[in-house]
Amino acid sequence: MRVYEEPIRDIVGRPGEMRERTRTIAVPEPFGEALAVIREGEPLDLDVRLESVHEGILVSATARTTMHAECGRCLQDFAAPFEVEFQELFAYTPTEADEYGVHGDHVNLEPPLRDAVVLALPFQPVCRPDCPGLDPETGELRDAEVAAEPDVVDPRWAALAGFLAEDTDVSADPGSSESK
Ligand SMILES: [Zn+2]
Repeated sequence: MRVYEEPIRDIVGRPGEMRERTRTIAVPEPFGEALAVIREGEPLDLDVRLESVHEGILVSATARTTMHAECGRCLQDFAAPFEVEFQELFAYTPTEADEYGVHGDHVNLEPPLRDAVVLALPFQPVCRPDCPGLDPETGELRDAEVAAEPDVVDPRWAALAGFLAEDTDVSADPGSSESK
């Protein structure tokens, strides 16, 4: 996966040196396999900062791309901006605690990028925060206003219910006046 390799020849063994690079790659194969994925070929912007430290190369990166997902509430497909940050130390002499090492004159960003993306992809994506979802009975998309405040009684109805209760002298509970 050559596209993810960052050359580090000019900062290897020179603690304190730092390089910043920005580039756009094409996702070579899908990231994620649940409801939300980054598709193959999707452009992915990568801001990379490479810092030379005594132990190796510390990489801090921000990845921006587009995710495609199926809304967990209304089941509609949608696309949304996706951003994730990650930081990884690539050690010169990796121990068991270090996941990644420096390979010759480059570091391979593909594994940590993939890990970061897959972890950050939403497990239950929603097309928008207030997506009302589907009506469990009809399967149709629910009315957004009704679904947003399902337990709130219309104030006009509440007033009317009070009227009825007064009038019939039963109870203030609209349920009982209805069953009369
Ligand atoms: Zn939705």
